[in-house]
Amino acid sequence: MSGYLLSEEELLLKNTVRDFADNELAPRAAGYDESQEFPWDNFKALAELGLLGLGIDEEYGGSGGTTRQVAIAAEEIARGCAATSTMYIAHLSLCTQFIHMYGTEGQKRQFVPDLATGKKVGAFALTEPGAGSDAGNIQTASTRSNGGYLLNGTKTFITNAAEAETFVVMATHDRSLRTRGVDALIVEGDSRGITVNPLHGKMGIRASSIAEVVFEDCPVPGENRLGAEGEGFRETMQVLNASRVAIAAQCVGIAQAAFDSAVAYAKQREIFGQHVADFQGIQWMIADMATQLDAARLLTMRSATLRDEGLPFIKEASMAKLYASRAAVELADRAVQIHGGIGYLAPTTAERLYRDAKVTEIYEGTSEVQRTIIARQILQDDLS
Ligand SMILES: Cc1cc2nc3c(=O)[nH]c(=O)nc-3n(C[C@H](O)[C@H](O)[C@H](O)COP(=O)(O)OP(=O)(O)OC[C@H]3O[C@@H](n4cnc5c(N)ncnc54)[C@H](O)[C@@H]3O)c2cc1C
Repeated sequence: MSGYLLSEEELLLKNTVRDFADNELAPRAAGYDESQEFPWDNFKALAELGLLGLGIDEEYGGSGGTTRQVAIAAEEIARGCAATSTMYIAHLSLCTQFIHMYGTEGQKRQFVPDLATGKKVGAFALTEPGAGSDAGNIQTASTRSNGGYLLNGTKTFITNAAEAETFVVMATHDRSLRTRGVDALIVEGDSRGITVNPLHGKMGIRASSIAEVVFEDCPVPGENRLGAEGEGFRETMQVLNASRVAIAAQCVGIAQAAFDSAVAYAKQREIFGQHVADFQGIQWMIADMATQLDAARLLTMRSATLRDEGLPFIKEASMAKLYASRAAVELADRAVQIHGGIGYLAPTTAERLYRDAKVTEIYEGTSEVQRTIIARQILQDDLS
């Protein structure tokens, strides 16, 4: 295998997930968008296919696999249903992978199998009302108590929180230390002192739930800390760097779905005695869309390949997320445009994708934050 083309094994995975997305996810996507319910049947189907354990070692209940394979699966899932792919990435790449990457042997054996096989839903709780891009400013306190911790504070915008039984929560044991005071803690959903307040009214990915999570003297056993004390922020950044590859792949999936719907409509709709696809202005739009789509996919697979090969990939993952999220937004916009009036109405796929795409420029680091990361990676030698 050379370049960014797919190996036979990768192609098999892509085709399997593509069929699943076409046959199960896509037909349900408009209904879930309307009902705004958590897509439990999609979650269970992802578990049955072993996709919730992709990239997780088999000894912890996972299916094994590479970053490239996670990217391939995330793209195809997003192509079928963007909301399901958000739920998937938060569960797998943020929560399960965090414990898989930084857990002790005991933590991995206790928590990862149930997540990797879909017995439990996972969530990742970093953002707070006053700490999104400024993640180092988190205020949720982890006060030492009886050999463990008492958690107090409020997290917000937490994907899967209403359904999750396992959370990875970032909290600080000493605010004056800023990022070096942060611990990553595994918190079980049925612990005392947790209130989950669902947030409604999202523009898109409406079947993916988000909630505020309030901790009031929530006890966390000392053995639930991931990694050494004060290492939680560094670990979180590593997890987010890797997860950005999956988000970039999600963007490619959304962009591909927008492209497919636009091309199909342009070939079918007749006006002025010809198909919309016969107008050169539309053909140029389609050519630009196809070029952006390929560039987004190549950037994404480059970052996945670098990570799999153990090479530096942080700048490349941010470039992929930055570019692919813009591509998703622009292709969804073009898809609505090519549909004309009907593209503005639900339940056309283009209308839903237009709303779904926007969040990719915001979560897991806004586009402005990605540019900051890229610039720092380029300039760090000069700055240090
Ligand atoms: C649907 C959804 C799901 C989410 N899921 C999760 C989740 O599961 N877990 C979790 O922890 N969080 C989650 N988030 C939170 C998300 O990661 C944050 O919303 C995001 O990081 C931005 O933070 P903020 O909303 O506080 O915006 P702010 O940080 O307040 O940013 C406001 C604006 O300032 C800009 N800005 C910030 N810094 C700079 C800078 N240095 N230079 C220039 N401009 C800058 C931003 O780009 C943005 O345009 C989710 C959010 C959404 C919308």
